[in-house]
Amino acid sequence: MNNNNHYDAIVIGGGPAGLTAGIYLSRGRLKTLILNEGTVGGQMVLTHEIANYPGVENISGYQLANIMKKQAKTFGCDIKSNINIDTIELNGAVKSIFLEDGTVYTSDSIILAPGGRSRTLGVKGEDDFKGKGISYCATCDGDFFTDKNIVIVGGGNSALEEAVSLTKYARNITIIHQFDHFQAFEHAVEEARNHPKIHFVMESAITAFHGDENLKSVDIVNLKTDHSQNFKTDGAFIFIGYLPNTEFLKGSIEMNPWGEIIVNADMSTNIQGVYAAGDSIVKKFRQVTTAVGDGTVAALAASNYLQELRLKTKTQ
Ligand SMILES: Cc1cc2nc3c(=O)[nH]c(=O)nc-3n(C[C@H](O)[C@H](O)[C@H](O)COP(=O)(O)OP(=O)(O)OC[C@H]3O[C@@H](n4cnc5c(N)ncnc54)[C@H](O)[C@@H]3O)c2cc1C
Repeated sequence: MNNNNHYDAIVIGGGPAGLTAGIYLSRGRLKTLILNEGTVGGQMVLTHEIANYPGVENISGYQLANIMKKQAKTFGCDIKSNINIDTIELNGAVKSIFLEDGTVYTSDSIILAPGGRSRTLGVKGEDDFKGKGISYCATCDGDFFTDKNIVIVGGGNSALEEAVSLTKYARNITIIHQFDHFQAFEHAVEEARNHPKIHFVMESAITAFHGDENLKSVDIVNLKTDHSQNFKTDGAFIFIGYLPNTEFLKGSIEMNPWGEIIVNADMSTNIQGVYAAGDSIVKKFRQVTTAVGDGTVAALAASNYLQELRLKTKTQ
């Protein structure tokens, strides 16, 4: 194996969590590699404006991602995009990553930051109006719907809690849910039911999104009667679950039943030398700021681990 392919730390995932870890590790003079499937930047590049990242105003996700990438590279971090991991060996002192193209990378520590994705409805028009009326994040986009009429899809805690939080902005909110009851805590259901801005369309589902530049209406079918109607709306928030990108780690690291990586306060996992950060870990709030925070903690904890490892090797 080419020794150039051995790193002090390898970061898997080049979203805000992974890029931040890359910045801290390489600035700490550790030989660092970020491996990213697809384009570097993660979910940030999907949003046209990030209005809640402290210290920067009027910035697109793409621009913020490029600044983070440039910062990491300036400190000497290697970044490889459009890679596909075949297998990964996390146990033992030396960790190995085997890519589908046959390249093998090894390292003394790993930071897992593969992020995640919102579950989508998979109906006609959904891809066309993502970011043009369709959103999966109330904290990120709620403000864009001030005084607008919106629909929310979902019936769990996120859907009901986010519906209540969106009443700060929206004029009217219609929750569309496929069953005749909700799968949320009773207090969340009560709060939504008692809010004058929130209305309900039960036992129904969206079958299509329509509009021109932006979303204008949705087709709703009543699942009991099969009756369809076109419903005018300025926006749609979809809260039907979240999927961490951890399928490739199944069986190699401790995760909860939803595939989220279990971490300690210092972002360490159940495997020595392996840390995790960002949207793929067990956590409640998934934002750029929280991902960046996790990436910082993981990188500093990994740096400490590597320092202790070097000291041990020297004294042996
Ligand atoms: C449309 C949209 C708008 C948003 N708007 C905002 C906002 O305004 N403000 C805000 O704070 N947050 C916003 N968010 C949330 C924010 O983008 C995420 O919380 C944040 O990007 C998570 O960072 P991360 O680094 O953990 O993961 P991600 O951003 O998901 O990045 C993970 C990276 O890992 C890569 N990856 C995945 N699997 C592998 C693998 N097997 N091997 C190698 N690489 C892999 C992915 O390709 C990706 O590049 C928004 C999210 C979306 C979807």
